[in-house]
Amino acid sequence: MAAKRDYYEVLGVPRTASQEEIKKAYRRLARQYHPDVNPGDPTAEAKFKEINEAYEVLSDAQKKAQYDQFGHAAFDPSAFGGGGAGPDFGGFGDFGGFGNFGGFGDLFDMFFGGAGRGRRQGPERGADLRYDLEISLEEAAAGLEKDIEVLREEACAACGGSGAAPGSRPETCHACHGSGQVRQERATPFGRMVNITTCPRCHGAGRIVTKPCTACGGSGRARRARRITVHIPAGVDTGARLRLAGEGEAGRLGGPPGDLYVFVTVRPHKRFTRQGDDLLTEIKLNIVQAALGAEVEVPTLDGKAGLTVPEGTQTGTRFRLRGKGMPHLRGHGRGDLHVVVSVETPTQLSERQRELLRELGRTFGDKAEDKGFFRKVRDALGR
Ligand SMILES: [Zn+2]
Ligand SMILES: [Zn+2]
Repeated sequence: MAAKRDYYEVLGVPRTASQEEIKKAYRRLARQYHPDVNPGDPTAEAKFKEINEAYEVLSDAQKKAQYDQFGHAAFDPSAFGGGGAGPDFGGFGDFGGFGNFGGFGDLFDMFFGGAGRGRRQGPERGADLRYDLEISLEEAAAGLEKDIEVLREEACAACGGSGAAPGSRPETCHACHGSGQVRQERATPFGRMVNITTCPRCHGAGRIVTKPCTACGGSGRARRARRITVHIPAGVDTGARLRLAGEGEAGRLGGPPGDLYVFVTVRPHKRFTRQGDDLLTEIKLNIVQAALGAEVEVPTLDGKAGLTVPEGTQTGTRFRLRGKGMPHLRGHGRGDLHVVVSVETPTQLSERQRELLRELGRTFGDKAEDKGFFRKVRDALGR
């Protein structure tokens, strides 16, 4: 066995390289030496294997740590060989190990648009997207249409999502005739065994892109910002989740797109507190309004409403204005507005106002008219 090259050297990255740099280097080299790009070139194929092996180790935190410490000795070659003479019980359907072109997942990403390693590699539904939208209480009450901008993966416009350069087409894989799987029958001491594995040539896709689209690098996908109009119904509350079917990311290999979920948050309001579909607000009354009763204006979401406060209203008294709350999300009508009274004791009185209050106090039989009375008493005792 020839001496192995250092994995960092193979990928052309420093030992301090980040995972991102390692991945980048791997993708660049894998693209350059891919057997489909260099048909019939055995050095390219060997190089490609070498690159994959290096990446398999350096992209795995645990293996990388072992390699950093012990070098190639960290991995016993016999553990990864798989094949050899005689009945082969090792590595049934195992394409994840060494020597078996590890790292298909990433390569597959590059050529076909990203089904992860070990996942089913046929048509796949696109990912769902989440968008968090914050609206005001007034907007929640009225309902609205909002344009939101969503960054999502879509089918590449240049190649229509096939990943093949315009004018070319992905070829049906001749190794598996498009099925993406290969069957191997063999005799074993226990009888005939059929071994079905992912096709090693097309990695399960059933087709091969020979001339990758330059716009998307063969992935068939492109990231785009899309403006989408969302209809938000009147009465929504924080936690509402609106589903926009088919507005998620594009599917892979002809799969359907995912959905877009808009999660609504209603901002707290400085005047109204929400309790379900009811609203709560506070009004301040002065002592005369509270004592004699009054006609006052109360803020509502639509403007103002009149409220008759009866004589002798206390702090904490609640009034209900029917139908002045939030609209019911399902069905007709609206919740109520609850108005809570807070009676304010006056401050910074004028001399005239003090005199009137003293006079009022005397009618209640108050002996202590105000603080001035006590001061006079203290002064008299002190003298
Ligand atoms: Zn394209
Ligand atoms: Zn195939």
